[in-house]
Amino acid sequence: MASYQSYSFFDENSCIIAWFGTMTNIEEQKQALAKKDEFIGIASHELKTPLTSLKGYMQLISAYKQNELPPIIKQFAGKANEAIGKLANLVNDLLDVSKIQMGKLEFNTSLLNISDLINICIESAQFMYPNYIISVHGDKDGRATGNMERLEQVLMNLISNAVKYSPVHKDIHIVTEVTETEVKVSVEDFGIGLSDYQKERIFERFYRVEDNTYATSGLGIGLYISSEIVKAHNGKIGVTSKLNEGSTFYFILPIHE
Ligand code: ADP
Repeated sequence: MASYQSYSFFDENSCIIAWFGTMTNIEEQKQALAKKDEFIGIASHELKTPLTSLKGYMQLISAYKQNELPPIIKQFAGKANEAIGKLANLVNDLLDVSKIQMGKLEFNTSLLNISDLINICIESAQFMYPNYIISVHGDKDGRATGNMERLEQVLMNLISNAVKYSPVHKDIHIVTEVTETEVKVSVEDFGIGLSDYQKERIFERFYRVEDNTYATSGLGIGLYISSEIVKAHNGKIGVTSKLNEGSTFYFILPIHE
């Protein structure tokens, strides 16, 4: 199967000045994606077991005769724990992707305060990114039905992306707007921003913007997982952005009456 797309460029009088089209073999792309999904499903499960035992042994090492340990060993143990934490986040993200693919991203929900969600995330973010100025704006007293851990995962993902894709401007705004029917939480940064074409695709799994001038590491699955979590809360996720000016990623949840 092939997909056909055309692009037109207009002058100020809305006359077409250039036009081109592309043909893509969708079937091949689909097969490649299915192979990736299958590999991730197997690899993430295989990685989980040794990682859990590694975590356990590191906890034992960290707790062992603390008073007798030379400071340098304590420092190494701290660094190893940090790296294990990052690895655990990666493996958990991969596991989430495979759960989503199998339709098994299940979680309990309860009544929660958006202000609690924001406070928890701000506290973690300020600790993780001390060089950034993260400020809170708007009314924070919305109540929604949801899963606190999963929503924390969404908000932390948006904040860490704001940090990652705004290496120069260090201001990040978290804005809450509450109406009678919904609560909207936005994360605004003043970083590299996105073009209209890029915006369309960033919630797809494995999609990363190809930018030779600005390279960061990542798997291209954070926004995909976030969008699936928000959808599972009957919510909406989206972005407004301008290239080189910054981005505002937001999610909207139905309010609990
Ligand atoms: P990752 O960051 O691991 O690549 P994500 O799924 O979180 O994966 O994001 C997908 C892509 O969306 C990123 O590669 C990046 O190009 C773009 N992106 C995400 N957040 C921002 C942001 N705040 N500003 C600019 N681009 C962003």
